[in-house]
Amino acid sequence: MELGFIITKIITHPDVVVEIDKDLKKFSTMRLNARGDLITIRSVDGLKRTLKELTKNNIRYRVLGWGANILLPSTARIPYLQLDFDFDRSVLEKAQSEYVLPASVSLATLTSHANKFGLKGWEVFTGIPASLGGAIFMNAGTNLGEIGTIIKEVNLVTKNGEEKLIKIDQHSFTYRHNHFVEPGDVIYQARLIHFGIDEAISKKIREYLEMRTRTQPLKEWTCGCVFKNYQDPDLRVTCRAGLFIDIMGLKGLSIKNLQISPKHANFMENRGESSYEDVMTMITVLQKELKLQTGVSFETEVEY
Ligand SMILES: Cc1cc2nc3c(=O)[nH]c(=O)nc-3n(C[C@H](O)[C@H](O)[C@H](O)COP(=O)(O)OP(=O)(O)OC[C@H]3O[C@@H](n4cnc5c(N)ncnc54)[C@H](O)[C@@H]3O)c2cc1C
Repeated sequence: MELGFIITKIITHPDVVVEIDKDLKKFSTMRLNARGDLITIRSVDGLKRTLKELTKNNIRYRVLGWGANILLPSTARIPYLQLDFDFDRSVLEKAQSEYVLPASVSLATLTSHANKFGLKGWEVFTGIPASLGGAIFMNAGTNLGEIGTIIKEVNLVTKNGEEKLIKIDQHSFTYRHNHFVEPGDVIYQARLIHFGIDEAISKKIREYLEMRTRTQPLKEWTCGCVFKNYQDPDLRVTCRAGLFIDIMGLKGLSIKNLQISPKHANFMENRGESSYEDVMTMITVLQKELKLQTGVSFETEVEY
């Protein structure tokens, strides 16, 4: 029996919508041609039931946030889960001391709230396209800091459909990593703090956004930085993948409609109908060339 058919039979819940063989191009920021089964979940109860049923039937799944750090294959072999929880938006009408927000809220919404009320600590969201859940999973961050610093608690549902509360401490996050999400867990909510009100935050957010718009292709279809920077343990220096690709003269290199961004060499722009295979070919070419020229094996930051 086809997987999609099985999923529609086992998951019947009023807060869960199952779509089989859906066009998923708009579900990742790189807009690669992609199709797959999508399960949209609108409540904790729906999430618990979905995970329990999928696990019981030995069906693996992948959580999709904003799709800003994932390369979607042309045809997915496992279903994607996406959360779309409603919440009381009036909490964003004034500054609060703490916030309990769903994983599906976008960082853009939170940046705009921080900008309006000057929430200290929340400048870390600036310019990162993400859902709150995806950003917590990745411990996303910029020069202004990491999201882990303002997370107090995380609520998740395990693959067996059980709820779990995680109290965040100094060991919960490291660079672009969390240390509490187990395979199959789905984050559905988090409690956020801030460090007071500071009028300078709005200026900081505006200036940082302007700088990013100048230096990164934020209006193009990309997946953010493709390679992680390399930290040399002996020399204690950071080798920036983008800088090396630039020095090697590879900015602007194209494979069909896929191009290394002329604005920032660690970004690849999909300028048309690029596929997962095109991106993988470009990654392989760059990794080989980087190794040859610098001796460094650069790992990818983007997931595939
Ligand atoms: C233009 C651009 C600029 C970017 N700049 C930055 C930057 O400055 N700093 C930075 O850190 N990143 C940056 N990124 C990468 C990306 O924004 C981050 O990695 C972000 O955290 C991804 O969030 P997402 O919601 O899109 O997650 P996705 O890409 O959809 O998923 C990422 C991972 O998180 C998991 N996941 C998502 N939601 C959940 C959940 N609810 N529960 C459990 N697991 C989950 C997914 O399964 C996947 O493994 C950039 C990307 C783009 C396109």
